[in-house]
Amino acid sequence: MFTVDSWLARAWPVECPLCGLPAGGAGWCAACVALLPPAPAGCSRCLAPWPAASGVPAHCDAPPPWQRAWAPYRYGWPLDRLIGEMKFARRVTTAAALGRLLTACYVDAARPEVRGPVIPVPLHPARLARRGFNQAQELARPLATCLGLRLDPQALRRVRGGGAQSALGGAERRRRLAGAMAASAQRVVGEDVLLVDDVLTTGSTAGAAAEALLAAGARTVSVVVLAVAISPAADGTCNRA
Ligand SMILES: [Zn+2]
Ligand SMILES: [Zn+2]
Repeated sequence: MFTVDSWLARAWPVECPLCGLPAGGAGWCAACVALLPPAPAGCSRCLAPWPAASGVPAHCDAPPPWQRAWAPYRYGWPLDRLIGEMKFARRVTTAAALGRLLTACYVDAARPEVRGPVIPVPLHPARLARRGFNQAQELARPLATCLGLRLDPQALRRVRGGGAQSALGGAERRRRLAGAMAASAQRVVGEDVLLVDDVLTTGSTAGAAAEALLAAGARTVSVVVLAVAISPAADGTCNRA
């Protein structure tokens, strides 16, 4: 998987974040990368998996506000552990390792060329102060560097908190997040934005961010996340609208 990027190998001669052994390439050993659960094939807009039986692509009947989305992995063991460690144990070295992983996957997948700024989903300032870093920004930084794109964490900001959301359903999350973010028109007008976050769950956070970017004049928003959470009941219909 990590055959391409000598740039990454030069930048980070480090230990694999899962087993601790020295690792080349993007700083992960091949055996550990093989443990990571790949995202299922699915809708290129909302990432809902295609129905296993038919293989027919799902359609976005009520599409999310962004134009495209991409995730290399499904949210599950051991990524859930690493992502939790990064966020709740405030482990910035894990964030860096996950950023290298996302970057290597993106480059390997030869993703469609996006020219615009790379914008991390912002944290509310209070949460940022508690955590010490924004994990989305740590994921976005190596991606922007590797692609030669502008990293612009100032382009989008939280204007109010959404509260703790992990226990809430999609509708309630959306209600709380409506208008929670604002984008700078000066920074995003006419741009094709790469919006980066760690996990796409209900899509309400990325949706609020995309709405703010588009309202400020962004041309398109492509969502890039490390992992997509797939509900066990996923039946091939789009469930992030
Ligand atoms: Zn390893
Ligand atoms: Zn869809």
